Amino acid sequence: MPARILDGTKIANDIRNEVAADVKSMEAAGVRPGLAVVLVGHNPASEIYVRGKVKACEQVGIYSEQHSPAETSSTLELLALIDDLNRRDEIDGILVQLPLPGQIDSKRVLMALDPAKDVDGFHPVNVGYLSTQRPGLVPCTPAGVIEILKRSQIPIAGQEAVVVGRSDIVGKPAAMLLINANATVTVCHSKTHDLPAVCRRADILVAAIGRAGMITRDFVKPGATVIDVGMNQVTDAEEFTRFFGGNAKREEAFLKKGSTLIGDVHPEVAEVAGALTPVPGGVGPLTIAMLMYNTVKAARMRRGSRIPELTSK
Ligand code: NAP
Repeated sequence: MPARILDGTKIANDIRNEVAADVKSMEAAGVRPGLAVVLVGHNPASEIYVRGKVKACEQVGIYSEQHSPAETSSTLELLALIDDLNRRDEIDGILVQLPLPGQIDSKRVLMALDPAKDVDGFHPVNVGYLSTQRPGLVPCTPAGVIEILKRSQIPIAGQEAVVVGRSDIVGKPAAMLLINANATVTVCHSKTHDLPAVCRRADILVAAIGRAGMITRDFVKPGATVIDVGMNQVTDAEEFTRFFGGNAKREEAFLKKGSTLIGDVHPEVAEVAGALTPVPGGVGPLTIAMLMYNTVKAARMRRGSRIPELTSK
């Protein structure tokens, strides 16, 4: 039986609607959450991401402003901007779009963020809160992974979870969230021996690698839930055919655009998994939805008020 496809777009829309309702209720109390997005220079991919984030703010009623320092900005100039945003009370969340140009000390800039406004959840203070299960701001993509599981009624407690990838922004926080949700968690990386065998232990397999279609059917226990975080652009026609040959809809889109998005999970996994997130339309849409949630959460936490609950929790 083919895998149940977990509809990330629908789940993300549900979360956005919940956030919009919460923003309305805060407005009635005279508070409007605010997000500042900092985009240095003109990285085309970053510009698209930032546009999406600003538009999402508009849709849910969050105040947003964009700061666009020049490509040639220095670390000190960025630090001055962060300091200003840290001080402004109407700004609840600050998001510095990565990557920053090479001359800027990214770690220093991210460390300068007020942890209470760190809506990406990358500051070591928030990392510490996550690992000690204290209220804090959780990285958006891993938080989205957990929302997909919970809202799809996939049990986590007591399950074997395997996370492939140990980055600070996806793999590690995803593993920590799964531990906090009482899964038994294994984290794999490029030095893991016999990766397929380790992955086959998983009831829940999270792929956050950045390698197109690397997780093939022999990595997956029949019936397992597979969460595909990967986002890889395929432009090579031969590679495209290897993954999607015979898929008329995909072929038409590929011919039109000259590229397609593929996750870290090979499409053939749909024949063996019990449930699977598609790419696109799986984890991707959750990332912005959770950013909206985090901004409202930051606004409430900074004012010492109730932290908004998502309906799944
Ligand atoms: P990253 O920082 O490059 O980390 C990749 C991880 O995969 C590393 O831990 C690396 O191991 C591991 N890895 C690489 N090759 C491997 C192999 N052959 N076998 C086992 N492990 C291997 O990437 P990231 O930032 O975590 O992102 C991962 C993917 O998620 C990317 O495709 C990215 O585009 C996508 N992503 C999606 C969203 C979204 O909104 N959907 C958000 C963020 C990221 P080592 O540590 O040993 O090098």
